[in-house]
Amino acid sequence: MNTKPIIENRIWQPEFECMPRPQLLALQAERLRAAVTRATKNPFYKALFAKSGISPEQIKSADDVRRLPFTTKADLRDHYPLGFLVVPRSEVARYQGTSGTTGKPTWTAYTKNDVDNWCDLSARFLVSGGLRPEHTVQISFGFGLFTGGFGLHYGIERVGAAIIPLSSGNSERQIMCMQDLRPEVLICTPSYALKLMDDILSGHVPRESIALEHAHFGGEPWTEAMRTRIESGLGIRCWNNYGLAEVQGCGVSGECAYRNGMHLQEDQFIVETIDPKTLEPLPDGEKGELVITPLCREAFPVIRYRTRDIGYIYNDGDCPCGRTTRRMSRILGRTDDMLIIRGVNVFPSQIETALMRVEAVAPHYMIEVSRPGALDEVTVHIEMQPDMFSDSMKEMQTVRDKIAAAVYGVTGLHMNIDLVSPNTLERFEGKSRRVKDHRKLVD
Ligand code: ADP
Ligand code: ZN
Repeated sequence: MNTKPIIENRIWQPEFECMPRPQLLALQAERLRAAVTRATKNPFYKALFAKSGISPEQIKSADDVRRLPFTTKADLRDHYPLGFLVVPRSEVARYQGTSGTTGKPTWTAYTKNDVDNWCDLSARFLVSGGLRPEHTVQISFGFGLFTGGFGLHYGIERVGAAIIPLSSGNSERQIMCMQDLRPEVLICTPSYALKLMDDILSGHVPRESIALEHAHFGGEPWTEAMRTRIESGLGIRCWNNYGLAEVQGCGVSGECAYRNGMHLQEDQFIVETIDPKTLEPLPDGEKGELVITPLCREAFPVIRYRTRDIGYIYNDGDCPCGRTTRRMSRILGRTDDMLIIRGVNVFPSQIETALMRVEAVAPHYMIEVSRPGALDEVTVHIEMQPDMFSDSMKEMQTVRDKIAAAVYGVTGLHMNIDLVSPNTLERFEGKSRRVKDHRKLVD
């Protein structure tokens, strides 16, 4: 547990974020009862609750959430597009959706109150990560259905800071904007930050010409090692925030000034960890699938949503920041990104952690999985740092061996390491796609 703040410790809504635990649990129980009542307006939940004999009056404590049925992505798809909407269309103030890369998006809807709540949720993690009303913020998230763009936009507005809604893409323009309007804060995915960092460093943009102090990243898994690379490369502080469209959007959790994991906004969400195989709840401290019940959503209530995100909730006591809420770990991966290699479960984030331990490598990689014969094979393509790229076979072999050993150390698997020239792998403007699994094409 970190006991010293990295920046000044500020709290946007102490009345909720620092609420004494017994009061918070009572508020959760009351709000859960109301959420179940609202969900009952959806015929899907009405039938499920009736089948298991559940009625809102039976919800007496926050723990009673465990008696409720789970909701999956498939349930949302089965009721496409708006089967989970429980208010008249005239009461909807906004529609957003998941950034799903294939097929139709998963839609979600918000009433005016939902949007209003959401602004405060975003403001909470922005303020705890250094945002002040006098700042200017460059949003380089795509504006559109993805909840990151508008979710953060209105959070920033609530804090009172100025927004440059640049959206993603065109890194030359992004850097020009950083130099000309001098924002102190940048919002994007961590993979887009890598791309911008490369262009800033290789374009010899003088650091003094850019005023950036903080960046807020979300939308995809990233590692502590990646944070160190970006923070030292750009000389800024990077903050992690988490959320997903199905339960709200950004703002489910975010880091405080002490960086002891991401504080869950527990007045608005009940977050559980379950074993994805047995569906049994796991104690805090154990790694599993996060299950989230939003407590305040009026338009589109979901109950015990199975996020497919893997993480854990800390059980190491209270954070010195004064918040009473529990904290979650980084997302270690998604159940649908987990690779099973020769029977061993591996997340891309583990490979990233191993790669970043080797100094000579740049933070750009691509993982390719195939099954040429009976066994799975993994090849990790990784870019070298420009100044470390060498013609000497011997030097290259030493780097390759180092990487292979680091990867083996973290995953217990032997993987092929392919060192590639600087600036040859794909870059990403939004969420990255760093895994190519050729086995799925043939299975
Ligand atoms: P999708 O990516 O499923 O289309 P969203 O655009 O709503 O849907 O993105 C939500 C997902 O993004 C989360 O379920 C999670 O997998 C990922 N995500 C969001 N924030 C983070 C974060 N800070 N760290 C890791 N993963 C994140
Ligand atoms: Zn804290």
